[in-house]
Amino acid sequence: MVTRRGMLRGGLLTAVGAATALAGSGQVKHWFGWDRPPLGGGYAAAADDLGAVAHGGVQIHYFRATTEKLVALTFDDGPLPEYTPQFLDVLDEARAPATFFMVGRHLEEHAGLVRHRLGRHEVGNHSWSHDDLATLDLAGARRELERTHEAIKRHTGREATLLRPPYGHLGGSTVLAADSMGYDIALWSHQMRERRYAGDPTAQAQDLIDTMRPGSIVLAHDAGDKRRLVALNALPAMIAALQERGYRFVTVSELLRSPSEGRPAEARSASFSASLEPSSG
Ligand SMILES: [Zn+2]
Repeated sequence: MVTRRGMLRGGLLTAVGAATALAGSGQVKHWFGWDRPPLGGGYAAAADDLGAVAHGGVQIHYFRATTEKLVALTFDDGPLPEYTPQFLDVLDEARAPATFFMVGRHLEEHAGLVRHRLGRHEVGNHSWSHDDLATLDLAGARRELERTHEAIKRHTGREATLLRPPYGHLGGSTVLAADSMGYDIALWSHQMRERRYAGDPTAQAQDLIDTMRPGSIVLAHDAGDKRRLVALNALPAMIAALQERGYRFVTVSELLRSPSEGRPAEARSASFSASLEPSSG
């Protein structure tokens, strides 16, 4: 008879077996460990060294209700031979600017892929090793960001001002590291869904065309396995259709500088400081 406890144990043994099979890949800790917040339910690292606060706060952006029809395409994880050059070709063809959130060690090794090709594009920081920053302490998170910042400066001549944390995972230490370096954080409101639309770039393009709103930030990847070809092949039709509907493609920084329908930042901070005033009544 299979008892409930026996079934649980069987499940556990299966998980341990899978973990053992993966041992040595360097992924075990991050796939199954307590330190992967969304899977393990653990806490992300704290912002526990206030001596590192340099700019008094970090803005986290995922969307901006722009008055103009703007959209920011973003590409993570490159530069790599598959498929960064092809994405750059498509963007050149469409004369569309984008933002590339680069992995420092990829840039260090493959800077030649993007040399003289970033003219209209923005470059952001996507960490050095694509580790889960939410699991690192402040020193670890800073090392990841600083090394990448320097590589971006050395190879592209740009000073990055935006961080996109790998997996979109944020912990206190990540936000604090960003603050200490004067970065803001850029997440996303839309994303390419290469699994859902495997082999069907037309459906992928249509999904984004149908759901786009002014001020959207779209996540895609210019590196990875063959699935990324869905995104690559969806791109020309998506860009053309959105341009036809009056959308203009901009970098994330330009999107963030553009007039928006929301309350201006000054009004928000004014009301926030007002709420901190001790009550006189
Ligand atoms: Zn990534």
